[in-house]
Amino acid sequence: MSEPRLITSLTNDTVKAVRALHMRKEREATGRFLAEGLKFIGEALDQGRTPTLLMVGMEARPHPLLDRAMAETRAAGGEVVTVTHPILEKISRRDNPQTVLGVFDQTFVKLADIDPASAPCWVALEQVRDPGNLGTIIRTADSAGCGGVILIGDCVDPYSVEAVRATMGSVFAVSIARCTAEAFLEWRASWPGSVIGTRLDATHGYRDAPVQAPALILMGNEQAGLTDTLAAACDVNVKIPMRGRADSLNLAVATGVMVYAVTDGIAAGA
Ligand code: SAM
Repeated sequence: MSEPRLITSLTNDTVKAVRALHMRKEREATGRFLAEGLKFIGEALDQGRTPTLLMVGMEARPHPLLDRAMAETRAAGGEVVTVTHPILEKISRRDNPQTVLGVFDQTFVKLADIDPASAPCWVALEQVRDPGNLGTIIRTADSAGCGGVILIGDCVDPYSVEAVRATMGSVFAVSIARCTAEAFLEWRASWPGSVIGTRLDATHGYRDAPVQAPALILMGNEQAGLTDTLAAACDVNVKIPMRGRADSLNLAVATGVMVYAVTDGIAAGA
C-alpha cells in the first residue's frame, strides 16, 4: 500500500476545502460534511459509509480501526492524507483537535421514502435553531431506537460541525429528512400510527395519551414552541409537567423525555 500524501502547508487547497466545510454555503455547494475523531469514523464504517477524504494527523497512534478506515477509504475511491498538528488545529478550530478527520457525503432521505413501520417511533422538529440541540436530539433518537428525525421548515443544518459533534456518531445511524411545513402536513395525512404534538398548553399528560405505533412525535422551536398549524395536525398534544419555577424544558431534554416515554409505552404494550 502506498504512503499517504503528506500535507504540511496551511494554505494547501485540500486543507482550505476542508476548512470551508464550517460554512453552510460550502456544505450545501459540495454536499459534504466534516466528522472528527476515530469513533465517528468507526460509526460511519459500521453503517457502510466511507469518507471521501480521510485526514490522519502525523501523531495519530496505530489502531486497528485506523487501518480499517484507511483501507476502506481507499477501496471506495477516497483519498487518505497525512497532515501536521497545526493543520488539524486550524481545521477543527480547537487547541486539542482529534487526530483523525473524515469528509463524508451528506445523506437526506425523502419523506416519500420513509417506511414508518421500520421503527416504533420517529421525531419531527419544527424550526429547530440550535445545532447542539439538534445533534443531541439525533443522538437521543438513535439511543431510543427511533427511525429518524424530520426537519420541518427553516432548521439549523444537521451537518454543521457543531451539530455533528453533538450527535457523537449517531448522525450516521438514523435517517434525516427535511421538508416544508406544507409538505409535512400532506405526508403526515397518511401516517399509519399516532402523531403526538408537544405543547405547554396541552391538557393531556405525556404518559397518558393513547399511542399507536409507529409514533411520530412533533417538537417545537426553542423560542416559539410548536405552531398552532402543526399542533392542530396532531392526533393529540401532550405536556410534560413543569413542577418548579421553570416554564419549559430545553428542547433536547423534552425530546429525550418524550421518545423514551413513547418507546417504553409501545414496548410495554407489545
Ligand atoms: N416558549 C416556548 C413555548 O411556549 O412553547 C417554549 C418552547 S420549548 C423551550 C421548546 C420545545 O420543547 C417545545 O415546543 C416543546 O416541543 C418542547 N417542550 C419543552 N417543555 C415542554 C413541556 N413541559 N411539555 C411538552 N413539551 C415541552
